[in-house]
Amino acid sequence: MSDTAEIYLDNSATTKVCPAAVKAVVEAMTQNYGNAASLHRKGYEAEQILIQAKKIISSILRCEQQELYFTSGATESNNLSLFGIAQAYRKKGNRIVISAIEHPSIMEAAKVLEQQGWEIVRVFPRQDRNFYVEDFVDVVNEKTILVSAMMVNNETGLILPILEIAKAVKQKYPTVLFHTDAVQGFLKLPIKLKNSGIDLLSASAHKIYGPKGIGLLYLKKGVRLTPLFYGGGQQNHLRVGTDSTALIAGFAAAVKEYHDKAQMYIKHYQQLNEYLNGLIEPISEITVHTSKQHVPYIVNLSIDRIRSEIMLHYLEQFGIFVSSGSACSKGAHSYVLGALGLSDAQIDTALRISFGTQTTCQDLEQLVKHLKGGISSLAKMK
Ligand code: PMP
Repeated sequence: MSDTAEIYLDNSATTKVCPAAVKAVVEAMTQNYGNAASLHRKGYEAEQILIQAKKIISSILRCEQQELYFTSGATESNNLSLFGIAQAYRKKGNRIVISAIEHPSIMEAAKVLEQQGWEIVRVFPRQDRNFYVEDFVDVVNEKTILVSAMMVNNETGLILPILEIAKAVKQKYPTVLFHTDAVQGFLKLPIKLKNSGIDLLSASAHKIYGPKGIGLLYLKKGVRLTPLFYGGGQQNHLRVGTDSTALIAGFAAAVKEYHDKAQMYIKHYQQLNEYLNGLIEPISEITVHTSKQHVPYIVNLSIDRIRSEIMLHYLEQFGIFVSSGSACSKGAHSYVLGALGLSDAQIDTALRISFGTQTTCQDLEQLVKHLKGGISSLAKMK
């Protein structure tokens, strides 16, 4: 079990910081605490944290160190990508294409751009609940400056064919830029940025056992971007403010730790996924919404006539933590599940179970035992 009294199955919302990241953060806060821009030795030491972090991450992502920027998280990286590209390329065109199931940090930023006069085209999945490359290509025209599609959806775990979209869109119009919100797939699905067709990529530390409040933006060399903030000249003027060296150190330590075991983890998630599906299959009240097109570490399901929040709090009594939709939408009706064609009743009763590196089969047995208990004892919706 994950912890004596806790079965944490909400790892897509956030993860527990790993010991290596905690150690790196504490060391940076208490020893290498200088300002990376200072000219003296303490500054040099702090700067080494940045350099080292970029070295680790760029070698894993197969990009140049100068193409990486640290931000306060993927929300900022996503906003910076949308607003920054819209501003920098506004003379070229005003159409931006996004998928209809992006995280709110893309959806809401796009809404603001729309109010300011940009044309936002949202691509929906088809009836089979999958996205098709042609549907992105069809809406790209000569006025399109950016296409943004997430790597893995945070609510259902659906994998979008991002590399194929990037390639096909560029075949039609080579100057269109491609951004991906890679948060839920970062280090979990293989990605090599060099020659990938990806121009911008957002990721976040706290989904991979790093600290909250730190993320990154990959920006391909030669792509222009207007910054969100103005101030000192840090990070090539693109993301100014004193470098958050302690969080960056924690981020890099978490990346290294996770990446070293990534293959093992994915196998572990596949086993857990199969195990959970086997346990759930005989329960007629449960409908699983995830399939082979989804990552194995996220399972989205609906339970007949029991509202998500009711079941969530019921499970909580037994120390089991799951999510109703995504943590970001905090109980709001999920536009993601709606776009994916789930019925209102299925959306109101949906739960997201997301595995972590420490999740065990026994955790899932406990989960299913209490799901069954909930099904037989909780008040049913009319
Ligand atoms: N995109 C996706 C797909 C996410 O799941 C999240 C986190 N819920 C974010 C962006 C935002 O990341 P952060 O918490 O680092 O701002």
